[in-house]
Amino acid sequence: MHAMARWTRGSLFALLVAACLPPAASLAAPGDVALAPDRDPVVQNLDKSVKPGDDFFRYSCGRWLKANPIPPAERGWGIANLVQNETYEQLLGICRAAAASGAPHGSVDQKVGDFWAVGMDSTTIEAQGAAPLQPYLAEIAAVKDRAGLLDQIARFQTMGIDPLYGLYVGQDERNSDQYIVHLGQGGLGLPNRDYYFGLDSNTVRVRAEYHKHLTAMFRLLGEDAVKAKKSSDAVFALEKRLARRSRTLEQLRDPWANYNKMSLTQLAQLTPSIDWTRQFGVMSLRAGDTVVVGQPEFFGQADTCLAQVPLETWKAYLRIQLVSELAPRLSRKFDLEQFHFFGTVLSGTKVQRPRWKRVLDAEESSIGELMGMAWVSKYCSPATKKRYEKLTEDIISTYRERIAALPWMTEATRKAALVKLDRVGRKVGYPDKWRDYSAMEFDRSSWAEAQLHVNAWWFRHEADKLGRPIDRTEWDMNPQTYNAYYDGSKVEIVLPAASFVIPGVPDSLVDDALLYSYAGGSTIGHEITHGFDDEGRQFDAHGNLNPWWTDQDSVQFAGRADKLVKEFDDYKVGDLHVRGRACLGENIADLGGIRLGYEAFKKTEQYKRGELINGLTPDQRYFLGYALSWLGARRPQSLAQQIMTDVHAPAFLRVNGPLRNIPEFYTAFGIKAGDPMWLPEDQRCAIW
Ligand SMILES: [Zn+2]
Repeated sequence: MHAMARWTRGSLFALLVAACLPPAASLAAPGDVALAPDRDPVVQNLDKSVKPGDDFFRYSCGRWLKANPIPPAERGWGIANLVQNETYEQLLGICRAAAASGAPHGSVDQKVGDFWAVGMDSTTIEAQGAAPLQPYLAEIAAVKDRAGLLDQIARFQTMGIDPLYGLYVGQDERNSDQYIVHLGQGGLGLPNRDYYFGLDSNTVRVRAEYHKHLTAMFRLLGEDAVKAKKSSDAVFALEKRLARRSRTLEQLRDPWANYNKMSLTQLAQLTPSIDWTRQFGVMSLRAGDTVVVGQPEFFGQADTCLAQVPLETWKAYLRIQLVSELAPRLSRKFDLEQFHFFGTVLSGTKVQRPRWKRVLDAEESSIGELMGMAWVSKYCSPATKKRYEKLTEDIISTYRERIAALPWMTEATRKAALVKLDRVGRKVGYPDKWRDYSAMEFDRSSWAEAQLHVNAWWFRHEADKLGRPIDRTEWDMNPQTYNAYYDGSKVEIVLPAASFVIPGVPDSLVDDALLYSYAGGSTIGHEITHGFDDEGRQFDAHGNLNPWWTDQDSVQFAGRADKLVKEFDDYKVGDLHVRGRACLGENIADLGGIRLGYEAFKKTEQYKRGELINGLTPDQRYFLGYALSWLGARRPQSLAQQIMTDVHAPAFLRVNGPLRNIPEFYTAFGIKAGDPMWLPEDQRCAIW
């Protein structure tokens, strides 16, 4: 079980990636070395056949999009992939060297090298076939009654397989100095509850294909056609019952509604079929006498299912849960069936990425920080880290000035907001302290087993936090990851080194317009405002859910935010409406980030000089630099999945959506009333 993080740049971009390029001496780009037009991405990507007022996203990157179709092995293609392609090569070198190093068992190089080597050893993986599943299939087969079933569910939880419900150890949302066990809805095979009920054409198609996928997996597990069909129907019906009482994407964003602290006695009343003391005992989890239950009605439903659904259905369900976790680590037929459904049906991807990239993807999500140690020492410098720490401070002090001068905020809330802003922790580049992975054990004998050992280590690592002081040194992302996050309980922003990389442009040639938009606005400014978005603002300066806004300010905030909800509700992708309420926090952060980056940029010499660079004014370069953060396209299937499951709007709307609210943007590109990009002034949203 991995720590729960708030991924913030969207799952297209939640991939491993990028290089930390050589540092510049100061924040300002060196005046004598300018970015030549043929290397200037905001110039090169422009499609001048599109008017900025018609579709700014297309204008900003249409030329690039035409020249860079999505490769068959990808569900989308954009800037994150360009950064990632650089990182893949770097990590490949690191893994190969570690694998050949003969490093002693238990060392970092042994783990990095062995995970790589066992993943690349397709001959052994093919020869083993389904054998790595056998011990666990035998455990499932031996289950005789409901108590045995629940024991098996608890054992699977410790192996990174999460049947029936989700569990993680994290800070208590109302007492952030303490870790507590969180129980939440889960156990579905499809990405979320809406896939079980949606009537749009894509969802209907996915659901039909899911039936086929389940049947195919049961066939691969050795069931005949009749039994496989029966198992598939039964498992789908069980999952649908769990989905019926699962919350929607919008509902999951309400931190109060998803915080239900209960004694174990209360929990027992909610779920009389589950002996939680025994569940936690099997997991060796020192849960104490209280837990946080995210969605009580889901657990009521899980209990009803336990009482009513036949044991044989539950055992089929556990077999699918097991094989879903391990299929990508098994022989080709398992791997390909899993890819067919999750890659092709759900995301529209035509072929798999080459094996070496898939192994690196798996290693990134399993032990990415171990690879990150070598990556940082080879490709990052303390000077680069310093540069971006300084930029982070610039953006935060601009935010401080904005809050201090906000016309709509009362003094009481303003004062508390400034206290919270000053308390926000900043983690920039790479960790000062790495996690201790020394107790993690695996070797080159089986990739599936190696994965299960890694999963078990993560479960124990998280479980052992119970009763201990909060670890404030950990990072939930790796330095080589093109992404960033805000943690509401720790009250901190975490900005991996790779998130600042502009592919093909050395750091020393990044001018301030690009620096303050691409890194300052879309990353740093975005993350810092998450602490004050519709969700984040409900947590106080100590990371506790605790109302600190006056009613008057809450009304002001909500009224402004509702404009963004309406704007995004009106966008459509295919036959799906964007869900303005689900992506509100991200849209507030995008809009806030653009504003903070812009205000900080206005203080620079480059802005004040006002000179054209490669034919563009400072303002034009700033807004084009912001659009560069979201360069890319996705397949229609993947876009549909994003709208249904992701709190981030599609990339083109993360450009066109927030910019329509920025007056300086209209001026910079001469956008007029009547243009498609135009939004009447009374409909525009301004929060920060
Ligand atoms: Zn975000």
